[in-house]
Amino acid sequence: MKKTDYRDMWVYIEHDGKKIHPVSLELCSEARKLCEASGDALAAVIVNDLPQEELDKVLEAGVEKLIFVSGEGYETFSVDAYTHLFTELCKKYMPSAVFVGGTIAGRDFAPRFACRLLTGCTSDATQLIYNEKTGDIEFVEPAVGGKMMAVITVPELRPQVGTIRPGTFKYQPSGRREHEIIRERIGFPVDQIRTKVLSFTAEDLDDSLNIADAEVIVCVGSGIKGADALPRYRKLASLLNGKVGCTRPVFDRGILPFKLVIGQSGVVVKPKLYLAFGVSGAVNHVTGITDSDKVVAVNKDPDAAIFHYCDYGIVGDMDEICDLMIGHLEAKKTEDAS
Ligand SMILES: Cc1cc2nc3c(=O)[nH]c(=O)nc-3n(C[C@H](O)[C@H](O)[C@H](O)COP(=O)(O)OP(=O)(O)OC[C@H]3O[C@@H](n4cnc5c(N)ncnc54)[C@H](O)[C@@H]3O)c2cc1C
Repeated sequence: MKKTDYRDMWVYIEHDGKKIHPVSLELCSEARKLCEASGDALAAVIVNDLPQEELDKVLEAGVEKLIFVSGEGYETFSVDAYTHLFTELCKKYMPSAVFVGGTIAGRDFAPRFACRLLTGCTSDATQLIYNEKTGDIEFVEPAVGGKMMAVITVPELRPQVGTIRPGTFKYQPSGRREHEIIRERIGFPVDQIRTKVLSFTAEDLDDSLNIADAEVIVCVGSGIKGADALPRYRKLASLLNGKVGCTRPVFDRGILPFKLVIGQSGVVVKPKLYLAFGVSGAVNHVTGITDSDKVVAVNKDPDAAIFHYCDYGIVGDMDEICDLMIGHLEAKKTEDAS
């Protein structure tokens, strides 16, 4: 088989039966752009079924094929059944690319079916480019601690499989197109599923840990002296109706939890205002903030890389600047109240 024998780009639509995981819609929008460049059709793969209003969101992303798969073994996610499903489906339809959200489930089954198809799987790309000359997708991502950008391709094999982290791209409805509906039945013997769901307990949601959709983020970097310095940053975030986030070393030092880490291995954020205190501006971090409307950076080092990525840069001590901002906001609040 030649790689040109493989056609269409697929997005796996992850859902819980009621709602689609946002990453799947984000991937549909990004894959749409690749399809425009390559001439491929965009297909969405849906296991079981979805309410019409959710299907409409998929169609609004410009999907031209809906591939519904049903069969025994898919009542709950299992890596065995999903690996089998995608292996069989890809063998039958030979897609050129398959994009899967970099969720816990996606990261589990995508490399496995890629392996069974003897092809490559790339994880955590922050950019996808279609190379017209080679016909390959270039998966671009920071490497060597963010010092360089790696371009990963699957130059000979197909399909090109990629897992992409939630929030990396934006869902941008591009309008409905004519679409074909394909229904497939691929069962997987339930007794061959090696994992069993014994019980399900929803995680207690602490809203302060959900920063993906925060409009204002006060990010503390490794410049922070320790956990004792946190209250002033929390206060600033609260005065701005925002949330606190951090860089990875702040998590490594045990100051803040992993859910607050922003960047390549953490959360991708899109706030209106992003305030970075004592953050050096490593690529691994900055890839998580590129969609911020306004970035304000505070660093004592005038040569810090973060100053290349910000709209406003302040050279100074992070605690002192934070206190000045708090004082200013409190004075403004009092003024507005009187
Ligand atoms: C595969 C991989 C994935 C990664 N993923 C992530 C990720 O998702 N998110 C992430 O954040 N990192 C990630 N990293 C780590 C990343 O490469 C950097 O090491 C990290 O972002 C640096 O964090 P920092 O800016 O807080 O610390 P540093 O680089 O140590 O910078 C601290 C900054 O604080 C300034 N400073 C110190 N004291 C003060 C003061 N009193 N006032 C003002 N400024 C001060 C310093 O001048 C310095 O610029 C990843 C690394 C790898 C290899």
